[in-house]
Amino acid sequence: MKKIIFSVLICTLLSCQENRPHGNQYKLPDLTPNNLLIGNLNEYRSSYRVSFYDINIDFDIENKSINGFVTIKAESKRDLNKLQVDLAENLSIKKITHKNQELSYSREYDAVLIDFTSVINKGSMFDFTIFYQGIPQSADNPPWDGGFTWSKDKEGRDWIAVSCEGEGARIWWPNKDHITAEGDSVRMAYTVPSNMFAVGNGTLRNIISEDDKSTYEWFVSNPINNYNVSVQIGNYVAVQDTFIKNKSIHNMNHYVLDYNKELASNYFTQSKEVIRFYEKFFGNYQWYDDGYKLIEVPYLGMEHQSAVTYGNGFSIYNGVRSKSWPMYGVIDPLIIHETGHEWFGNSVTASDPTHIWIHEGLQVYSEALYFEDKFDSYEVGVHYLNTLKNRIVNEIPIVGRENENHWALHGDTYMKGAWVMHTLRSVINNDEIWFQILKEFMIENAKGFASTGDFFTKVAEKTNEDYWYFAEQYFYTPNQPKLEHYQTDHNFYFRWNNVNKNFIMPLDLLVNGKIVRVFPSADYQSLKISKHSQVEIMDWKFYVEPVLMN
Ligand SMILES: [Zn+2]
Repeated sequence: MKKIIFSVLICTLLSCQENRPHGNQYKLPDLTPNNLLIGNLNEYRSSYRVSFYDINIDFDIENKSINGFVTIKAESKRDLNKLQVDLAENLSIKKITHKNQELSYSREYDAVLIDFTSVINKGSMFDFTIFYQGIPQSADNPPWDGGFTWSKDKEGRDWIAVSCEGEGARIWWPNKDHITAEGDSVRMAYTVPSNMFAVGNGTLRNIISEDDKSTYEWFVSNPINNYNVSVQIGNYVAVQDTFIKNKSIHNMNHYVLDYNKELASNYFTQSKEVIRFYEKFFGNYQWYDDGYKLIEVPYLGMEHQSAVTYGNGFSIYNGVRSKSWPMYGVIDPLIIHETGHEWFGNSVTASDPTHIWIHEGLQVYSEALYFEDKFDSYEVGVHYLNTLKNRIVNEIPIVGRENENHWALHGDTYMKGAWVMHTLRSVINNDEIWFQILKEFMIENAKGFASTGDFFTKVAEKTNEDYWYFAEQYFYTPNQPKLEHYQTDHNFYFRWNNVNKNFIMPLDLLVNGKIVRVFPSADYQSLKISKHSQVEIMDWKFYVEPVLMN
């Protein structure tokens, strides 16, 4: 595969990436048999709904291996005697049990097809347990090429973390690995050497020490994307803080390596401003009962729900990512980006990973709005977007094919996704309605799932106009509209090119400093102008390419 020439962010901010399992900037991924098994809600997956995952894993750090069992509680959606769960084929299954009886099963790539000895009737709650072990995939380039990072801290002590967006949680624990298959709650029990501390999502319920091992029991009491379930193991200490809202006090217990405690206790307070910004524009933080925390990790970071991981070096200007992604010296790029995903991605989740611009495009766009709000300046928001514009490549559509396990985490999903939102705001040309669209979309789909179509249904509801033509152009083709234009003494001529036949987007021109809205089509139209007029196509508000015709 071609190596892309600029930084791309996946679920975090940018890095050079290649050979991602889910496609790149230039080519949609092939549909492999495994992607069909994982991407599709076939009859053996749609027949049950997971309500609870109980994850128990013992970590053998020296051998980089895991040994565990996961109990899945589920509700049958119809009579069933066979179902599919997913576990990476390199991990071995010791046994699968149901009501203390061993079940037979077969494996096909990452799918595990389990046979029950009797029919489970529609509407029943049932559970089964998978005992497994093995050496889970290591991360080549986390978080972009995910897996386990087996690292050492500055003092040479073990420091371990996992990231698996795109690869899927099945690389380390068995689950129904479809983006819509969130358990209602998850318990994590991580067993590690007693001189280490294991951090999971949600709240710490218990620590049980026995011999030279300790088990850390964490609990998430909300629906959570499987890839957001995480484990971090190291010489962690808690950095305690609180978040006060409406006279309620919420705990924020961050976890960092012991030697960074003082630094983090000052630096991580900026996350509170980020939460306040997102609540103002996009509705309440959804996980107060699970808390909010930042966890220091040996890779850049990831939006693990209620357990946002952080590896940007505690520096607004000189952090790993801060250097390539400066944020006007007011916020850490990792803290705002990954915390924002608590709204875009964790609360409102794409209904298929091909619609993942809802996580990433909206996330990057929200950062522009943060600067607009912070500096009380629309122009700073536009400036931020302009710094990202040259990273757009327009090779493949932002949205690809559904049901194929296509995680559309290529760069255009981020930068172009943000620019498409910025453009739509300009087209709608009514900020009051625009901000209502964003906030209502996030509130109405909170703790739920949404597609590109769902977003534009909301847009139509609020504007009484059908903007699907806009979605078809910007999300379903890779083509940037070109405005071909030329001018004579008394006329400015313009037309669309490189657009779908139904593309009827209006556009603003700046004619001698005055905004004029025009409605280009595929045929040349003209606008009367005075001699020597300066006509600018407002490509800082609309993602279009002006092309001067001679
Ligand atoms: Zn992201």
